[in-house]
This record gives sequence, structure tokens and C-alpha cells, in this order.
Amino acid sequence: MTEIKEEIPVEEGGLNFIEQEIKEDLAAGKNGGRLSTRFPPEPNGYLHIGHAKAFIMDFGAAEKFGGTCNLRFDDTNPQKEDTEYVEAIKRDIHWLGYDWGDRLYYASDYFPQLYDLAVRMIKEGKAYVDEQTSEEIAAQKGTPTQPGVDSPYRNRPIEENLDLFQRMNAGEFPDGAMVLRAKIDMASSNMHFRDPIMYRIIHTPHWRTGEKWKVYPMYDFAHGQSDYFEGVTHSICTLEFVPHRPLYEYFVKELADESYCPRQIEFNRLNLTYTVMSKRKLLQLVKEGLVRGWDDPRMPTICGLRRRGYTPSSIKDFVNRIGYTRYEALNHIELLEHSVREDLNKTATRVSVVQNPVKLILTNYPEGKTEMMSMENNPENPSEGKHEMPFTRELWIEREDFMENPPKKFFRLSPDKEVRLKGAYIIKCTGVKKNENGEIEEIYAEYYPDTLSGMPGSDRKVKGTLHWVSVPTAVCAEVRDYDRLFAVEDPSSAEGDFRDLLNPESLKIRENVMLEPWLAERIKAGDHYQFQRLGYYTVDPDSTQEHPVFNKTIGLKDTWAKMMKK
Ligand code: ATP
Ligand code: MG
Repeated sequence: MTEIKEEIPVEEGGLNFIEQEIKEDLAAGKNGGRLSTRFPPEPNGYLHIGHAKAFIMDFGAAEKFGGTCNLRFDDTNPQKEDTEYVEAIKRDIHWLGYDWGDRLYYASDYFPQLYDLAVRMIKEGKAYVDEQTSEEIAAQKGTPTQPGVDSPYRNRPIEENLDLFQRMNAGEFPDGAMVLRAKIDMASSNMHFRDPIMYRIIHTPHWRTGEKWKVYPMYDFAHGQSDYFEGVTHSICTLEFVPHRPLYEYFVKELADESYCPRQIEFNRLNLTYTVMSKRKLLQLVKEGLVRGWDDPRMPTICGLRRRGYTPSSIKDFVNRIGYTRYEALNHIELLEHSVREDLNKTATRVSVVQNPVKLILTNYPEGKTEMMSMENNPENPSEGKHEMPFTRELWIEREDFMENPPKKFFRLSPDKEVRLKGAYIIKCTGVKKNENGEIEEIYAEYYPDTLSGMPGSDRKVKGTLHWVSVPTAVCAEVRDYDRLFAVEDPSSAEGDFRDLLNPESLKIRENVMLEPWLAERIKAGDHYQFQRLGYYTVDPDSTQEHPVFNKTIGLKDTWAKMMKK
């Protein structure tokens, strides 16, 4: 899986291979020309961008071809599932712009029918109760080249199986004491046919059905039948389910006649560099406090990406660019960032913010004077107009924009050098004041009154332009700067404990960030801005009017374009 594929799959007529199959099925009049898909998350964690790839397909194909898409919670394991996850999943799907209408279902809706089917299969000699431990069952499975071994319980009389299965569900036996298995073929070349487990005992109450059931169906015994009960025509999932497909069809055929079987089609999972996509691992990061929660802006979860400032259209654009194929791949996170940058460049309002402030004093500018400078809201979209920013004798500029002994190509501020203050005047540095440790405390400069931006005769060229914020009206904010969550490109394939591969520098908090007053007045969680020369930032929900908090969404430099040039 370490191979990184950049090529974008060839698509005929703008359709990916799944959409082409759907189109052909519809044209052939299959299922009476009906299209019904479903997205089947297990509510045992928050959705991540890989799930987004899946449901963009499910809901997107339904939209494209005039079909419908169900949301079905695969709630077959009460030990791991929770309503918190159910609500979060609904919120995240809605945020990406999709809706299931009145088609909200739960696998637990089908527990009675599934139980009845199991009983019928027992009666027909197609299922049996196995009292071996899971280790024993696993040991008998054989290997792809070696047949498995029959369980000693395989030929138990039907009556005994029926009696035991009913008592399993009545709660007479502890978790793990026995399972119900399909009696298929212990020598099948498809390992999934070697008497797969249909039901296991779980005493934990279910968040929807309470104490009603003590046996719960396995994924393979629930999924295809659930699709069947809902009349799903195209059951789209990821490649790891390819070997499950014959079993999926086997169980559906226990219910269906020849005229209808939902069609399972598989595509490649989304894997992203510098992150993990396993719910189990993401849960571990949250539970162990290695991140600040499911919506930590470093997480690949949808709520994390939202908090970070990624937009629905950028996520959809990214998924569209990587496409759907039948081969596993690892995608560069820089491509996702590229989509985010492109979107925010079009929509984010430009503002002035100084993140590492040092004071600049214009010694020839009158004390107490304020001029209002006009700043463009978005040069990409002039219709968004302008806003005003106060200019005063004392200004904050970035510490990195000044060097006392600069190298040759340094075009920012240094002694006796000139720069333009963006949207204002050209200035010339005249000196600095240092503290007892030799650190620069103040920088002095003189401004040229006849160089005001936009005024006649002001077009004298200087090499550098700096952003700035007026000292008396600046508002102090917190900025959370992020780097990759993991220090290695493919943490999922690396050896050892994945937690040891976390990037210790992935979060950097800046406390003393100076905002221009116009921005400070309109702090609203979720709003996106471009801080001039610094990058794209999004207001965090932790913000208050007194203490604005921003997440750095993404820098300005297009690292993807740079990678593609190599
Ligand atoms: P697990 O089953 O290990 O708990 P999961 O991520 O597969 O984790 P599900 O809730 O079963 O979780 O996933 C719902 C749907 O999302 C499935 O159809 C699955 O194929 C799809 N999916 C999950 N991960 C990805 C991914 N990385 N890329 C694309 N689709 C994914
Ligand atoms: Mg799964």
C-alpha cells in the first residue's frame, strides 16, 4: 500500500466506473429501472474523510441518476455503539450537503426478521450451534490452500440446535459460550464460506432494543439481508468486501427469489498520507488524550476537518479528483490541501493579522493621529468591496519581517532600508531599541507622506511590502497552528505502535496574535479568513469576543503544485 498513485482514473463521459455500471443496469431495465443505494455506517465512532468518499458516492450516484439513498445504521454490536455517534454521523452527512429524507433505517429494525431467518435455516439443516471457543474455531478454519476441519458440533440434531439457539437468546449462556454458524463448506476455496458465524451472544443492552436480544447478527449475516429488506439495488462498498460478496449473495438468496438481489460493487478505500483512517486507532487517540477530541483540527474526521476550516466543497472537490478505482492507493494529503486552498482563495476575506508582533514606531508621524486606510476584502472578487483599517504612529509588524544584519536577498525591513506598509506608506528604517538581553523591543522608522498607496505620484517601487496592525486598536487573539498529525508518511504500514509515530510538533499555540479591529468585531465560529501573507484561518468555536481563537486551516504556499513539478 506504500505505492502512491497520482494518476486520476480515466472516466468515460464524466462517469466513474461505478456510475457507468449503474447507468448500464438502468438502461438494461434491471430492478424495473429503479436505483436505490445506502450508506451503512456503524455508530461506533465519528465519520472520517474516507467515509465521506463512500457516502459522496452513495448519495451522489442517487442524485445523479434520480434514485434514492438510505442512511442505515449498522447497529449490530451494542458493546461499541452509542447515540453520540449516531447524532454526529447525521450532522456530518448533512454538513456535506446530503439528506436521506424519510429513509433513515437501523439494522436493529431487522433483528426479528433476521432471527426468523436463522431459525428457518436451522430447521432446514443449514445452521448449527457451535460450543467451541473462538480460538478453537479459528484454528479449524484452515488456510486458503488447506481445507478447514469440521466442528465436532457440526452434525448436531436440528432439535438440539433450535433449543440451544432459543436459549442463547433467552440469556441462559454467557457471552462467548457458543455461536450459531452457517453449515456451508469447510473446504471452500473462499474462506468466508467455511461455516461463517451468523450470531454471537452479547449481554450488553442495546441502545435501541434494550434487553430484548441476547444474540446479535454478524455483519455478514445482517448486511445483505438489510439491503434486501430495503430494496437496495446497488450496495456500494470498499474493496475488502470483495471476498464477502459470494456470502452476501448466499444469504440474500435464502430470502429472495431469482428476480432480485442487490448488487454489491466495490471501490478502493481512501488512505491519506500522514494520517490513519482506522476508527479503532482514531478512538484510541481520543480516549488516551493524544488529541483534544474527535473534532481536534488535526484529525481526519469530518468534524475535525470542519473545525480546522476545510469546506464541504473542497472535500467534494478532492474526492472527485482522486476518483474511484479498483486498486488500493495512498493519496497525498497535499492534494486535499490544494483543494482547500483553491476554495478558500475564492471565498475567504482578506484581513491584517500580526502573529509574532514587534512594535514599529514612525517617529515623524504625529502622535494621536489616525488615518483610515482602505483594504480590499478579496482581490479575487472585487464585488466584496473594501473595509477600513486605522493607521497610527505605532504599528505591529512581524518580528520575522525585520533583520538587523540581513543577507543579500532579504527584501523586508532592515536598517536604512525602505519597504511599503501594505495599503499605506513607504517607510525607511532608522534604528532599533534592544532590551538587556539584546532582543529587539522597538523598531524606528520614518514615513514618506507623499507615498500613500493609491495617491497620485505614490507609485515609487520598493521591493518589499509588509502587513501591519495599528497598536492602539489591535485586539489580542490565540492562534492554533497545526502540522501533520503523524511524523511518517504512511503510519498505517509502519512497524510498531502507531502512537509512537505521532508528530510531537503537530500543535503550536500562539497567544499574542494581533488582529485588526474590523476582524475582531465580527468573530463568528466557522468563518474563514485569509490573514495577509500568512495563510487561511478559521474562527474556532472556543472563541469569545474577549478572547478570539483561530485555527490555521492551511498555508498560502501550494505545496501540491510544487510536488507535481518535480
Ligand atoms: P470498521 O468497520 O472497522 O469499524 P469502517 O471504517 O469500515 O470501520 P463503517 O462504519 O463500517 O466503518 O463504514 C461505513 C462505510 O464506509 C462502509 O461501506 C465502508 O466501506 C466505508 N468506508 C470506511 N472507510 C473507508 C475509507 N477509508 N475509504 C472509503 N470508504 C470507507
Ligand atoms: Mg466496516
